Amino acid sequence: MTFNKKLENIRTYEAGKPIELVVREFGIEPKDIVKLASNENPYGCSLKVQDAVSAIISKMALYPDDSMIKLKSALSKRFDVGNDNVIIGSGSDQVIEFLIHAKADSNSKILMNSVTFAMYEIYAKHVGAEIVRTSSQEHDLDEFYEIYREQKPKIIFLCTPNNPTGDAIDSNELLDFVKKIDSDTLVVIDGAYMEYACAKDSSKEIVVKDLIEQYLNVIYLGTFSKAYGLGGMRVGYGIADSKIIKELYKLRPPFNITTLSLEAASVALSDEEFVQNCITLNFEEMKRYEEFANKQKIDIINSYTNFVTLCLNSNQNSTRISSLLLQQGVIVRDLSSYSMNAIRVTVGTNEQNSHFFKLMAQFL
Ligand SMILES: *Cc1c(COP(=O)(O)O)cnc(C)c1O
Repeated sequence: MTFNKKLENIRTYEAGKPIELVVREFGIEPKDIVKLASNENPYGCSLKVQDAVSAIISKMALYPDDSMIKLKSALSKRFDVGNDNVIIGSGSDQVIEFLIHAKADSNSKILMNSVTFAMYEIYAKHVGAEIVRTSSQEHDLDEFYEIYREQKPKIIFLCTPNNPTGDAIDSNELLDFVKKIDSDTLVVIDGAYMEYACAKDSSKEIVVKDLIEQYLNVIYLGTFSKAYGLGGMRVGYGIADSKIIKELYKLRPPFNITTLSLEAASVALSDEEFVQNCITLNFEEMKRYEEFANKQKIDIINSYTNFVTLCLNSNQNSTRISSLLLQQGVIVRDLSSYSMNAIRVTVGTNEQNSHFFKLMAQFL
Protein backbone atom coordinates (compact mmCIF):
# COMPACT_ATOMS: atom_id res chain seq x y z
CA MET A 1 0.00 0.00 0.00
CA THR A 2 1.26 3.51 -0.67
CA PHE A 3 0.93 6.32 1.83
CA ASN A 4 1.15 10.06 1.85
CA LYS A 5 4.66 10.92 0.59
CA LYS A 6 5.13 13.34 3.47
CA LEU A 7 5.29 10.41 5.88
CA GLU A 8 8.34 8.90 4.20
CA ASN A 9 10.99 10.85 6.06
CA ILE A 10 9.22 11.23 9.39
CA ARG A 11 10.78 9.40 12.29
CA THR A 12 8.27 8.26 14.90
CA TYR A 13 8.62 10.29 18.10
CA GLU A 14 10.70 8.36 20.56
CA ALA A 15 9.09 8.83 23.95
CA GLY A 16 10.96 8.15 27.17
CA LYS A 17 10.79 4.41 27.82
CA PRO A 18 7.83 3.48 30.01
CA ILE A 19 8.40 1.54 33.23
CA GLU A 20 6.34 -1.39 31.87
CA LEU A 21 8.83 -1.90 29.04
CA VAL A 22 11.83 -2.07 31.37
CA VAL A 23 9.98 -4.58 33.53
CA ARG A 24 9.37 -6.79 30.50
CA GLU A 25 12.76 -6.40 28.84
CA PHE A 26 15.07 -6.67 31.82
CA GLY A 27 12.91 -8.48 34.36
CA ILE A 28 13.42 -5.68 36.90
CA GLU A 29 10.76 -5.15 39.57
CA PRO A 30 8.74 -1.96 39.02
CA LYS A 31 9.76 -0.72 42.49
CA ASP A 32 13.44 -0.84 41.47
CA ILE A 33 12.93 1.20 38.32
CA VAL A 34 13.81 4.88 38.35
CA LYS A 35 12.30 6.83 35.47
CA LEU A 36 14.21 10.02 34.82
CA ALA A 37 13.56 10.29 31.10
CA SER A 38 10.45 12.39 30.50
CA ASN A 39 10.74 15.34 32.89
CA GLU A 40 7.67 14.35 34.86
CA ASN A 41 7.22 15.73 38.36
CA PRO A 42 8.84 13.11 40.65
CA TYR A 43 6.58 14.22 43.51
CA GLY A 44 3.43 13.38 41.54
CA CYS A 45 0.52 15.80 41.61
CA SER A 46 -1.37 17.68 44.30
CA LEU A 47 -3.52 15.53 46.60
CA LYS A 48 -6.33 18.01 45.97
CA VAL A 49 -6.24 16.95 42.34
CA GLN A 50 -6.46 13.28 43.25
CA ASP A 51 -9.44 13.94 45.53
CA ALA A 52 -11.22 16.03 42.91
CA VAL A 53 -10.74 13.43 40.21
CA SER A 54 -11.94 10.63 42.51
CA ALA A 55 -15.03 12.65 43.29
CA ILE A 56 -16.13 12.80 39.64
CA ILE A 57 -15.02 9.33 38.60
CA SER A 58 -18.63 8.25 38.03
CA LYS A 59 -19.09 10.85 35.30
CA MET A 60 -17.21 8.83 32.73
CA ALA A 61 -20.27 7.85 30.71
CA LEU A 62 -20.97 11.40 29.61
CA TYR A 63 -18.99 13.36 27.06
CA PRO A 64 -16.90 16.13 28.62
CA ASP A 65 -17.98 19.77 28.73
CA ASP A 66 -16.65 20.75 25.33
CA SER A 67 -16.69 24.45 26.21
CA MET A 68 -14.07 23.58 28.88
CA ILE A 69 -15.34 26.60 30.71
CA LYS A 70 -13.98 25.71 34.14
CA LEU A 71 -10.40 25.19 33.01
CA LYS A 72 -10.52 27.98 30.48
CA SER A 73 -11.69 30.43 33.13
CA ALA A 74 -9.03 29.23 35.55
CA LEU A 75 -6.34 29.75 32.92
CA SER A 76 -7.61 33.13 31.79
CA LYS A 77 -7.69 34.23 35.42
CA ARG A 78 -4.15 32.96 36.00
CA PHE A 79 -2.78 34.82 32.99
CA ASP A 80 -5.14 37.79 33.27
CA VAL A 81 -6.42 37.38 29.72
CA GLY A 82 -9.85 36.73 28.19
CA ASN A 83 -11.42 33.30 27.68
CA ASP A 84 -11.17 33.89 23.94
CA ASN A 85 -7.39 34.12 24.27
CA VAL A 86 -7.10 30.50 25.40
CA ILE A 87 -7.12 27.16 23.59
CA ILE A 88 -6.71 23.87 25.43
CA GLY A 89 -5.05 20.87 23.85
CA SER A 90 -4.40 17.26 24.62
CA GLY A 91 -0.98 18.29 25.85
CA SER A 92 0.58 21.42 24.43
CA ASP A 93 1.76 19.00 21.76
CA GLN A 94 -1.68 19.15 20.25
CA VAL A 95 -1.63 22.94 20.20
CA ILE A 96 1.70 22.74 18.33
CA GLU A 97 -0.01 20.45 15.83
CA PHE A 98 -2.94 22.87 15.41
CA LEU A 99 -0.77 25.91 14.88
CA ILE A 100 1.47 24.28 12.31
CA HIS A 101 -1.55 23.04 10.37
CA ALA A 102 -3.16 26.46 10.66
CA LYS A 103 -0.20 28.44 9.43
CA ALA A 104 2.13 26.31 7.29
CA ASP A 105 2.00 24.16 4.17
CA SER A 106 4.47 22.61 1.75
CA ASN A 107 5.61 26.05 0.54
CA SER A 108 6.45 27.26 4.06
CA LYS A 109 9.59 27.37 6.09
CA ILE A 110 9.62 26.87 9.84
CA LEU A 111 12.53 28.21 11.85
CA MET A 112 13.74 26.58 15.06
CA ASN A 113 16.82 26.16 17.20
CA SER A 114 19.51 23.66 16.18
CA VAL A 115 18.70 21.49 19.19
CA THR A 116 15.13 21.70 20.43
CA PHE A 117 11.86 19.89 21.12
CA ALA A 118 11.45 17.12 18.54
CA MET A 119 7.72 17.55 17.93
CA TYR A 120 8.15 20.85 16.06
CA GLU A 121 9.94 18.99 13.30
CA ILE A 122 7.52 16.06 13.23
CA TYR A 123 4.43 18.26 12.87
CA ALA A 124 6.25 20.47 10.34
CA LYS A 125 6.80 17.41 8.23
CA HIS A 126 3.08 16.54 8.38
CA VAL A 127 2.41 19.56 6.24
CA GLY A 128 5.55 19.18 4.16
CA ALA A 129 7.08 22.43 5.44
CA GLU A 130 10.80 23.03 5.17
CA ILE A 131 12.64 23.07 8.48
CA VAL A 132 15.32 25.69 8.94
CA ARG A 133 17.59 25.53 11.98
CA THR A 134 20.09 27.84 13.58
CA SER A 135 23.61 26.55 14.15
CA SER A 136 24.30 27.43 17.79
CA GLN A 137 23.27 25.10 20.57
CA GLU A 138 21.69 27.83 22.72
CA HIS A 139 19.07 30.15 21.25
CA ASP A 140 21.04 32.94 19.58
CA LEU A 141 18.40 35.51 18.71
CA ASP A 142 20.76 37.49 16.46
CA GLU A 143 21.20 34.38 14.39
CA PHE A 144 17.46 33.74 14.46
CA TYR A 145 16.90 37.26 13.16
CA GLU A 146 19.40 36.91 10.36
CA ILE A 147 17.89 33.67 9.17
CA TYR A 148 14.42 35.14 9.52
CA ARG A 149 15.39 38.03 7.22
CA GLU A 150 16.87 35.76 4.59
CA GLN A 151 14.38 32.90 4.66
CA LYS A 152 11.07 34.48 5.64
CA PRO A 153 9.74 31.56 7.70
CA LYS A 154 6.01 31.35 8.39
CA ILE A 155 6.60 30.19 11.96
CA ILE A 156 9.45 30.73 14.43
CA PHE A 157 9.70 28.42 17.43
CA LEU A 158 11.41 29.69 20.56
CA CYS A 159 11.56 27.11 23.31
CA THR A 160 12.37 28.78 26.62
CA PRO A 161 13.59 27.08 28.69
CA ASN A 162 14.74 24.80 25.91
CA ASN A 163 14.28 21.06 25.88
CA PRO A 164 16.63 19.05 25.83
CA THR A 165 19.33 21.51 27.00
CA GLY A 166 17.62 23.41 29.84
CA ASP A 167 18.94 26.88 29.01
CA ALA A 168 16.54 29.83 28.82
CA ILE A 169 16.25 33.04 26.82
CA ASP A 170 16.48 36.37 28.61
CA SER A 171 12.99 37.88 28.44
CA ASN A 172 14.22 41.36 27.43
CA GLU A 173 16.13 39.87 24.55
CA LEU A 174 13.09 37.90 23.58
CA LEU A 175 10.94 41.03 23.53
CA ASP A 176 13.50 42.91 21.44
CA PHE A 177 13.42 40.04 19.00
CA VAL A 178 9.64 39.77 18.76
CA LYS A 179 9.45 43.51 18.07
CA LYS A 180 11.41 43.07 14.85
CA ILE A 181 9.28 40.29 13.39
CA ASP A 182 6.59 41.15 10.84
CA SER A 183 2.97 40.62 11.76
CA ASP A 184 2.43 37.71 9.36
CA THR A 185 5.09 35.51 10.95
CA LEU A 186 3.83 33.46 13.87
CA VAL A 187 6.22 33.45 16.83
CA VAL A 188 5.67 30.50 19.16
CA ILE A 189 7.02 30.72 22.67
CA ASP A 190 7.01 27.28 24.22
CA GLY A 191 7.10 27.72 27.99
CA ALA A 192 6.68 24.08 29.01
CA TYR A 193 9.20 24.64 31.85
CA MET A 194 8.51 28.31 32.51
CA GLU A 195 7.33 27.70 36.10
CA TYR A 196 10.82 26.47 36.94
CA ALA A 197 12.61 29.27 35.10
CA CYS A 198 10.59 31.99 36.84
CA ALA A 199 11.44 30.53 40.23
CA LYS A 200 15.15 30.40 39.47
CA ASP A 201 15.63 33.72 37.70
CA SER A 202 13.01 36.42 37.18
CA SER A 203 14.87 37.75 34.14
CA LYS A 204 13.61 34.69 32.24
CA GLU A 205 9.96 35.37 33.03
CA ILE A 206 7.58 36.05 30.16
CA VAL A 207 4.59 38.22 31.03
CA VAL A 208 2.11 36.51 28.77
CA LYS A 209 -0.64 39.14 29.00
CA ASP A 210 1.62 42.01 27.91
CA LEU A 211 3.16 39.95 25.17
CA ILE A 212 -0.04 38.80 23.48
CA GLU A 213 -1.75 42.16 23.84
CA GLN A 214 1.16 43.92 22.23
CA TYR A 215 2.00 41.35 19.58
CA LEU A 216 -0.87 39.83 17.67
CA ASN A 217 1.45 37.30 16.01
CA VAL A 218 2.69 35.60 19.18
CA ILE A 219 1.38 32.46 20.87
CA TYR A 220 2.54 31.26 24.27
CA LEU A 221 2.33 27.55 25.11
CA GLY A 222 2.13 25.97 28.54
CA THR A 223 1.50 22.49 29.88
CA PHE A 224 0.29 20.62 32.94
CA SER A 225 2.65 17.73 32.21
CA LYS A 226 5.75 19.08 33.92
CA ALA A 227 5.58 21.25 37.07
CA TYR A 228 1.92 20.40 37.74
CA GLY A 229 2.63 16.68 37.69
CA LEU A 230 -0.15 15.71 35.26
CA GLY A 231 1.74 14.09 32.40
CA GLY A 232 -0.71 11.21 32.36
CA MET A 233 -3.72 13.50 31.97
CA ARG A 234 -2.56 15.17 28.73
CA VAL A 235 -3.47 18.82 29.15
CA GLY A 236 -1.70 21.82 27.65
CA TYR A 237 -2.73 25.24 26.40
CA GLY A 238 -2.01 28.08 24.05
CA ILE A 239 -2.54 31.77 24.79
CA ALA A 240 -2.71 34.33 22.00
CA ASP A 241 -4.73 37.05 20.38
CA SER A 242 -8.32 35.87 19.84
CA LYS A 243 -7.91 35.91 16.05
CA ILE A 244 -5.21 33.25 16.26
CA ILE A 245 -7.19 31.19 18.76
CA LYS A 246 -10.26 31.32 16.51
CA GLU A 247 -8.32 29.78 13.62
CA LEU A 248 -6.79 27.06 15.80
CA TYR A 249 -10.27 26.11 16.98
CA LYS A 250 -11.19 25.12 13.43
CA LEU A 251 -8.67 22.29 13.70
CA ARG A 252 -9.70 21.03 17.13
CA PRO A 253 -11.41 17.64 17.27
CA PRO A 254 -14.50 17.63 19.49
CA PHE A 255 -14.03 16.57 23.11
CA ASN A 256 -10.24 16.58 22.84
CA ILE A 257 -9.83 16.78 26.63
CA THR A 258 -11.41 14.22 28.93
CA THR A 259 -13.69 15.10 31.84
CA LEU A 260 -11.13 13.81 34.34
CA SER A 261 -8.29 15.74 32.73
CA LEU A 262 -10.24 18.99 32.69
CA GLU A 263 -11.02 18.61 36.39
CA ALA A 264 -7.45 17.64 37.25
CA ALA A 265 -5.93 20.63 35.50
CA SER A 266 -8.44 23.11 36.96
CA VAL A 267 -7.75 21.95 40.49
CA ALA A 268 -3.99 21.75 39.89
CA LEU A 269 -3.96 25.44 39.00
CA SER A 270 -5.57 26.30 42.32
CA ASP A 271 -2.91 24.52 44.40
CA GLU A 272 0.01 26.81 43.74
CA GLU A 273 1.64 25.86 47.05
CA PHE A 274 2.14 22.28 45.89
CA VAL A 275 3.83 23.41 42.68
CA GLN A 276 6.09 25.89 44.46
CA ASN A 277 7.20 23.24 46.97
CA CYS A 278 8.09 20.87 44.13
CA ILE A 279 10.06 23.60 42.39
CA THR A 280 12.03 24.37 45.57
CA LEU A 281 12.87 20.69 46.03
CA ASN A 282 13.81 20.46 42.34
CA PHE A 283 16.47 23.15 42.61
CA GLU A 284 17.79 21.78 45.90
CA GLU A 285 18.28 18.41 44.25
CA MET A 286 19.70 20.00 41.11
CA LYS A 287 22.61 21.31 43.19
CA ARG A 288 23.58 17.71 43.83
CA TYR A 289 23.76 17.13 40.06
CA GLU A 290 26.05 20.14 39.74
CA GLU A 291 28.28 18.78 42.48
CA PHE A 292 28.24 15.36 40.90
CA ALA A 293 29.24 16.74 37.49
CA ASN A 294 32.07 18.77 39.02
CA LYS A 295 33.37 15.79 40.87
CA GLN A 296 33.19 13.58 37.78
CA LYS A 297 34.70 16.32 35.60
CA ILE A 298 31.85 16.34 33.12
CA ASP A 299 30.00 19.42 31.86
CA ILE A 300 26.51 20.25 33.02
CA ILE A 301 24.42 22.88 31.24
CA ASN A 302 23.00 25.53 33.59
CA SER A 303 19.36 24.45 33.73
CA TYR A 304 16.17 26.45 34.29
CA THR A 305 14.00 23.34 34.26
CA ASN A 306 13.42 20.06 36.10
CA PHE A 307 16.10 18.23 34.14
CA VAL A 308 19.84 18.50 33.61
CA THR A 309 21.91 17.81 30.54
CA LEU A 310 25.20 16.11 31.27
CA CYS A 311 27.70 16.54 28.45
CA LEU A 312 30.10 13.61 28.48
CA ASN A 313 33.78 13.64 27.64
CA SER A 314 34.95 12.23 24.33
CA ASN A 315 36.11 8.97 25.89
CA GLN A 316 32.61 8.38 27.29
CA ASN A 317 29.69 7.36 25.08
CA SER A 318 26.18 8.56 25.87
CA THR A 319 24.46 5.67 24.10
CA ARG A 320 26.54 3.08 25.91
CA ILE A 321 26.09 4.74 29.28
CA SER A 322 22.31 5.16 28.83
CA SER A 323 21.99 1.52 27.95
CA LEU A 324 24.06 0.42 30.97
CA LEU A 325 21.82 2.57 33.18
CA LEU A 326 18.72 1.07 31.58
CA GLN A 327 19.88 -2.45 32.29
CA GLN A 328 20.01 -1.43 35.93
CA GLY A 329 16.50 0.02 35.76
CA VAL A 330 17.44 3.71 35.49
CA ILE A 331 15.80 5.34 32.47
CA VAL A 332 17.43 8.53 31.13
CA ARG A 333 17.42 10.20 27.72
CA ASP A 334 20.37 9.64 25.42
CA LEU A 335 20.87 12.76 23.30
CA SER A 336 22.89 11.12 20.54
CA SER A 337 19.94 11.55 18.17
CA TYR A 338 20.42 15.31 18.67
CA SER A 339 24.09 14.88 17.69
CA MET A 340 25.14 15.46 21.28
CA ASN A 341 27.32 13.13 23.34
CA ALA A 342 25.14 13.89 26.33
CA ILE A 343 22.37 12.50 28.46
CA ARG A 344 19.34 14.32 29.76
CA VAL A 345 18.27 13.35 33.26
CA THR A 346 15.09 14.46 34.99
CA VAL A 347 15.87 15.69 38.50
CA GLY A 348 14.13 13.07 40.62
CA THR A 349 13.53 12.67 44.33
CA ASN A 350 16.49 12.63 46.72
CA GLU A 351 16.50 8.85 46.74
CA GLN A 352 16.18 8.48 42.96
CA ASN A 353 19.03 10.91 42.39
CA SER A 354 21.30 9.12 44.86
CA HIS A 355 20.64 5.88 43.03
CA PHE A 356 21.49 7.55 39.72
CA PHE A 357 24.75 9.05 41.06
CA LYS A 358 25.89 5.70 42.41
CA LEU A 359 25.39 3.87 39.10
CA MET A 360 26.57 6.73 36.92
CA ALA A 361 29.83 7.03 38.86
CA GLN A 362 30.53 3.38 38.08
CA PHE A 363 29.77 3.73 34.37
CA LEU A 364 31.79 6.92 33.80
C1 LIG B 1 6.92 18.29 27.52
C2 LIG B 1 6.99 19.37 26.52
C3 LIG B 1 5.87 19.84 25.81
C4 LIG B 1 4.49 19.32 25.84
O1 LIG B 1 4.15 18.36 26.60
P1 LIG B 1 2.62 17.90 26.65
O2 LIG B 1 2.69 16.77 27.58
O3 LIG B 1 2.20 17.53 25.26
O4 LIG B 1 1.85 19.07 27.17
C5 LIG B 1 6.02 20.89 24.94
N1 LIG B 1 7.19 21.46 24.76
C6 LIG B 1 8.27 21.05 25.41
C7 LIG B 1 9.54 21.76 25.16
C8 LIG B 1 8.22 19.99 26.30
O5 LIG B 1 9.32 19.58 26.91
